Amino acid sequence: MEQYDVAIVGASIAGSTAAILMGRAGLRVALIERRTKPDAYKVLCTHYIQSSATPTIRRLGLAEHIEAEGAIQNEPEMWCRWGWILPPGDRPHGYNVRRQTLDPILRNLAAQTPGVELRPGERVTELIESDGAIAGVVAKSPAGNERSIETRLVVGADGRRSTVARLAGVREKTAPNDRAAYFAHYTGVSSASGTRSQIWLLEPDVAFMHPNDGGITLLAAMPAQASLAAFKEDSEAALLNQFDGLPRGPDMTHAQRVTSVIGTVDYPIIERPAIPRSGLALAGDAKLSTDPLWGVGCGWAFQMGEWLADAVVPALSGHGDLSAGLRRYSRCCRAIRGHQALIAGFARARPYNLFERLTFSAAARDEAFAAHLDAFGSRRIPVRQFLSPVALTHAAWVNLRHMLGNGRSANKRP
Ligand SMILES: Cc1cc2nc3c(=O)[nH]c(=O)nc-3n(C[C@H](O)[C@H](O)[C@H](O)COP(=O)(O)OP(=O)(O)OC[C@H]3O[C@@H](n4cnc5c(N)ncnc54)[C@H](O)[C@@H]3O)c2cc1C
Repeated sequence: MEQYDVAIVGASIAGSTAAILMGRAGLRVALIERRTKPDAYKVLCTHYIQSSATPTIRRLGLAEHIEAEGAIQNEPEMWCRWGWILPPGDRPHGYNVRRQTLDPILRNLAAQTPGVELRPGERVTELIESDGAIAGVVAKSPAGNERSIETRLVVGADGRRSTVARLAGVREKTAPNDRAAYFAHYTGVSSASGTRSQIWLLEPDVAFMHPNDGGITLLAAMPAQASLAAFKEDSEAALLNQFDGLPRGPDMTHAQRVTSVIGTVDYPIIERPAIPRSGLALAGDAKLSTDPLWGVGCGWAFQMGEWLADAVVPALSGHGDLSAGLRRYSRCCRAIRGHQALIAGFARARPYNLFERLTFSAAARDEAFAAHLDAFGSRRIPVRQFLSPVALTHAAWVNLRHMLGNGRSANKRP
């Protein structure tokens, strides 16, 4: 039986983040990853990382590495029926960086961290239990050799279909997602918005354009189930059709597709408790795999990895109580619950509700409210602040002023 302070299952965003911070704090970390290749990456992702995660990315020392590889400091422009919602000039940026660039760099950073032992090609197949608590994992190598690892904490950072959660018998909550997602990467796309990301809310479909590293632009469509037939018949034609005639849409004259059109037609939201059992924590998609429409999964995976490391390092280093640390982590995760509730509502591809009408229209008409919506959409402020009485009064006042014909043309395009 091998002994480590913590076993982290999954060396993607959440797992590598937690491993780096725990390793730096002096812990012995087994980082177990079933994929073998050093250049492995998550294919099903549109690479938009919210600015809520930028402090974590900087703390990891990752920002300089991905910027050196051409990561774009992202800013979103969103079009809705009331017009454009533009980002404020001084907003903190997130990143657009393809997973094929990000994942190997991040995993490598984890592998080089003293105290972290990356075990590529090993797959966790069993959990070790002791007195009703999770006390370790059994990992199988590609050759079929098994190793037992004993730890005080097991972290399931193994994605949406978390094997760890299944083995631990964790109950999951699901919610429907009534949109599909299709996307492809292109070279030679030109945009009137330069390197800004663009999002068009087409009610109920949604289209995205994200410039990325390497001069590659990602075009994505998230059609409601009702529009799926066209995508199933000819996915590229249907994808490009979504961009036809859009305000300030991409110029595809010199564009060339460089990847297949891929996507998913059935992607329900899956949510699990952060601390489902004694000795076990879940992070990233293993904890919450939400609708990809708002591009929050990567940012939250970075943040959960950081929250978890900060919460348990003292106890795992011999100072304090591990259960108290885990409860602290669970409380941190509660911060995203309100966001998740709003995301789940929008995933029904239904007509806008009152709050969406009020806030989107106000943001299209008023710079200050656009900045407020941007802080919320980038997940930098909690829902209670986004929908505070002061903010809602401001939104109502902006719309009233507009109806009375006194609207300032504050949020007009340059
Ligand atoms: C279509 C689509 C588009 C998306 N676009 C965006 C976007 O633009 N922005 C955004 O923020 N999010 C987006 N997401 C979500 C984002 O991809 C995920 O939230 C993010 O990758 C979660 O990271 P993670 O580290 O939790 O898990 P993952 O990246 O899923 O990694 C899990 C890791 O665990 C490993 N693993 C699994 N089982 C085992 C095992 N038994 N043993 C050992 N290792 C194991 C896997 O090999 C993998 O490396 C999108 C999702 C989809 C489906």
